[in-house]
Amino acid sequence: MIVKSPSVLLIYTGGTIGMIENPETGALENFNFDHLLRHVPELKRFNYRISSYQFDPPIDSSDMEPSFWARLVKIINYNYDYYDGFVILHGTDTMAYTASALSFMLEDLSKPVILTGSQLPIGTLRTDGKENLITSIEIAAAKDKNGNAIVPEVCIFFENHLMRGNRTTKINAENFNAFRSYNYPPLAKVGIHIKYETHLIRKVDYNKPLRPHYLFDTNVVILTLFPGIQESIIDALLKVPGLKAVVLKTFGSGNAPQKPWFLKILKEATDRGIIIVNITQCSSGRVQMERYETGIHLLESGVISGFDSTPECALTKLMFLLGHKLSEREIRYKMSSCLIGEITKGS
Ligand code: ASP
Repeated sequence: MIVKSPSVLLIYTGGTIGMIENPETGALENFNFDHLLRHVPELKRFNYRISSYQFDPPIDSSDMEPSFWARLVKIINYNYDYYDGFVILHGTDTMAYTASALSFMLEDLSKPVILTGSQLPIGTLRTDGKENLITSIEIAAAKDKNGNAIVPEVCIFFENHLMRGNRTTKINAENFNAFRSYNYPPLAKVGIHIKYETHLIRKVDYNKPLRPHYLFDTNVVILTLFPGIQESIIDALLKVPGLKAVVLKTFGSGNAPQKPWFLKILKEATDRGIIIVNITQCSSGRVQMERYETGIHLLESGVISGFDSTPECALTKLMFLLGHKLSEREIRYKMSSCLIGEITKGS
């Protein structure tokens, strides 16, 4: 019997991880992925078939756009049958947005799509990039005893933690430990062994074909409340022509000012068809609008709960649903539903 060696497609979009230090000048330069094995010789020891694809030119993830997400989905869809898993090397700054977006775009995904990056370039001595890259590849290729992917999800792997992509947020601009999934436990922890938490990983139908989606509507905004926020500013923002949806970052468990002008502006906006989703400014925990009077007033103004969604996930989910031209009613319903493990509604 011929045993096929595992295969992984590495997609380099840009970001710190793909840089090496020019030994002569000390300057950071973009890494040429055709020479991957030369720079990361450890990969040879895997005995995997590893191919790579690189964005040309590579982009700093601050320049990420839905069109790049569509490009990633196209690459994955095109190569879907030829690889066991996919590793996306991405700048850390907007990695959580890309991971959230891809989780909605890759419907019926049954193979791993692991995003990773690093805080120090792969070509520097103390880099965290090699460990992140090598472990991501191992996770992307990992199969259970039936030959199915152990982690058939879009994930972020960073500094020993494998996290569900649409639950993850960048929390530190300097530490190697730069990402957290506050409202959902890690899917795997990595030490001497990779310890998969199989009960937390999504159960999928491995026979279903991948259904790729590409459309987004970016007529959305995130509005963070703060004490002293002005009527004229909120009013002007919610009347911006073309605006379709707002992620409203409220206080604590979903609370907002009770001032009549504030609730009136929100009510008028929802009456005009603008979808307003309430998430908390706290890093952890969820919105419970029925808990305090302030939250109840928001409900009465037509605001819907985003439960324990991250801002990145609420925003990309709205852009995705709006892009698919669903009715306002359907979008409100889907925002209140868990589509791909992105929220826990709680009791
Ligand atoms: N600015 C870089 C980026 O997000 C930072 C990094 O890669 O970590 O592309």
